[in-house]
Formats: sequence, structure tokens, C-alpha cells
Amino acid sequence: MRFTNLTARNEIGANCYLVETDGRRLLLDCGSHPRIEGTEALPRLDLLAERGPDAVLVSHGHLDHLGSLPVLAERFPEAAVCMSHGTAAIADRALHNSASVMIRQRSELDLPDYPLFTHGQVDRLLERTCALPVGRGVDVAGVETTLFEAGHVQGATGVWIEAEGASLFYTGDVKFSGMRITRGAIFPDRTPDAMVLECTRGNTQSQPDFSWDAEAARFARGIREVHEGGGSVLIPCFALGKTQEILKLFHDFIREGLLPKQRFYLGGLGAAYNEVYDDLAETLPRLCPRFRLRRDVMSRRLNPREAAATDLDGGQVFLVSSGMMTPGTSSHVLARRMVREARHAVFFVGYVDPESPAGRLKTAGQGGRADLGGDAGIADIRCRIESFDFTSHCNREHMADYVVRIAPPRVLLVHGDTPALEWMQRELQRRLPASRVLIPPVGEGFDLA
Ligand SMILES: [Zn+2]
Repeated sequence: MRFTNLTARNEIGANCYLVETDGRRLLLDCGSHPRIEGTEALPRLDLLAERGPDAVLVSHGHLDHLGSLPVLAERFPEAAVCMSHGTAAIADRALHNSASVMIRQRSELDLPDYPLFTHGQVDRLLERTCALPVGRGVDVAGVETTLFEAGHVQGATGVWIEAEGASLFYTGDVKFSGMRITRGAIFPDRTPDAMVLECTRGNTQSQPDFSWDAEAARFARGIREVHEGGGSVLIPCFALGKTQEILKLFHDFIREGLLPKQRFYLGGLGAAYNEVYDDLAETLPRLCPRFRLRRDVMSRRLNPREAAATDLDGGQVFLVSSGMMTPGTSSHVLARRMVREARHAVFFVGYVDPESPAGRLKTAGQGGRADLGGDAGIADIRCRIESFDFTSHCNREHMADYVVRIAPPRVLLVHGDTPALEWMQRELQRRLPASRVLIPPVGEGFDLA
């Protein structure tokens, strides 16, 4: 069994990994870089040369894990495309939206390569996508494959593959503890020959006394304080997963009397994923089987044009994408207006790329100055800026504990910035001295068993 990292760099970018075993080639994920535009956002599909994969297995519906799938599928029409049925439902919305965004950006950003794929290509991809069961082994292109629930977002799975008497487990993105909708990961207890591990939180030190409930109470209190001061709250938020979890939190706040009954503004894509989440409630296990986002939470869609004109008085909550505040999006349009006034607030609820406008605003904080990107330029930050930890990734200590308990002889660290990868390497090598813990350089093959 041989492993090759096909991401463009060791970072939180476009996930894509090649596993060769028993004469078969399997690809794990085929993402696109969340912050880079154009063909640079693709993983290193060129390293596949002429021989495409026999199958591609997709861990979950975030674009950094499946955003380049239509490009791959078009280039290699023979490759089987497999994922959980929850991820397939999400992929439909995610990839069609991505095609629409690229069609718009072609002229806006002068990117003649765009769109990298069309709506027709997405439809063709979805037609040939095969939904795999979760928790039960099936044959995929001659390789025994089992998906395991990974928490993180609805439909997310880790991927176990086995051939030639060798096995590999790819975690994908994982959260071991439950959130409000999505329950925690149910990962295998057996030991694979190699584990491929996501390291998103490897550089984030956990607070020993942290609790979700205490963080939620602080969040509710923060919103109330801003509203009492006559301001509104902007929450730049990823459309898939985080938006739905925060809406369930708001629903609980209202029920518990922590927030008054109110309506929440949502971005269009967040609202579209609400539909998918409600549909999946019938078939996927979750912590609140009877809760429905569209029925139980009052919300209203807001597009970037409306965001430029909407009334900021009267204690509004804007839960809108993009989470990175990419110029032109609703969160960017609102941030430009709101940072100028001390009565408003921007609350961050998860990971932001430090080099994105959202990351720069978060780092600058109230009283600082930040380059908001696009034609917004440098802004004086007068509004309240605060961060809340509602991450959908497991913390580094829990991840390390899991790996140490399973004790695979080889561990490959991926999907993290350099300090995160290095922390995880040091920690695991210290606690598993008999194992080999690697940060696989791009394009270099490793024999695993
Ligand atoms: Zn993810």
C-alpha cells in the first residue's frame, strides 16, 4: 500500500490523497482551496499523469474536500465516485453553487479559466455518484471500504480501506463530541496499518475548563448586551454546518429565555443548506431528530445587495456567509458598514483563515485597523469584536488520545498549517515511540505496508 499527498502544499487547503494498493488507485477527497481563485485552487491532479484513479472516496461536503471533484470526474470518466448519501445530498448544492460563483467571477475577477466546471458537468458527476452505507464494509473497485461517522457536519465520514492484507484509515474532518444537531464521531476501535489524520486544531491550545454550554451562555449574553446598546450583531459564518448548528443554538436560547423571540438573517447558501439538513433529518441519525430549521427558527434570506441597504437598528442578528468575509459577499458588505460604529459587534464562531479579511479583522480587534480587502481598504475598527469557540473540529488533545489508544504503526499528518502539523508530530512521536509519524511532502510516495 502506497500513499501520496496530492495537496498543493502542507496547509489547510485542497485535500486530495492517492492510495495505491493491489494494482488499484484510490483517491481520498478531491477538494479546492478555500481562499485561492483559479486553477491554483486545484489539488495536484497533474501528478496522477495519464492513469486516473479507479475510485474517489469523499469524506464530507465541505468544498476543501470535494470542490474539485467535477474537474477530476471530467478528466477521468471511468473513476467511480463514492460518498455517504448525506454527503451526496450536500455535494449537489455545494457544487452547483460553486459553478454559479465561478461563472460570476469569470468577468468580475477577470479569470478566463472560469468556470472550472459547468452545471452540466456537476449533473453528470452526481448521476454517476454512488452512495455508500455507513458502518458496513462494501467493495469499491476491488478494495474493501467502510465509512465511519465523523461528527463535524451531517454526512461526514472517516474512510477505512483494506486490500492485500493492509489497511488504512483516513479521518477526514472529525469531531468526537456532539454539537447541537450533529452527534459525535463513531470511529473504529481496531488498529489500521496506517492512519491519515486531520490536524486543523493542532496549533490551538485547549482551555481545560472549556464547556460548550458555558461558551453558549457567554455568546447569548454578548448578543443581548449589543442589542441593549442599540446595535446589531454580524456573525460571519460558513454556510454548511456552522450556520445550522448556530441556528439550533439560537432556537435553544429562545426556548431557555436567554434571547427574546426574534428573526435571524441568513445568507442564501446557508438557507439552501437548511433545506438539505431538514431533508436529511428523515434518514440520518442526529441529536434532535424532530427539530426542523425551516419550521422551528424564524429566519429571512439576505443577499449582498439587500445587505448594503438593510436597516442596522433594532437589534438584528446577521448569520451570513462567507465565513472568511470574501469581498462581495453579504458578510463583507455588512462588515464594511458595521465596523465603523461602536454600538455594533462582529462575533466569530469558528476557524477563520488568518490571511482572509475576517482573519485580519479578528486579529486587529476593537480599536485596531484592518485591511478588509476589495475596495473596502483599511478600516478603523470601532465595533466590538469577539470570538466564540464553537468549532466543528475536535481539539488536538482528543485527537492525540484517540490515535494513541489505536496506536497505528504509521501516522500521516495532513490538513493543518505547519505549526499545527508539527505539534501533532511531536506529541504523537513522544507518546507512540514505536510508530512512525510523518508529515508527507507533496508528491512523494510512501510505502505503508
Ligand atoms: Zn470540513
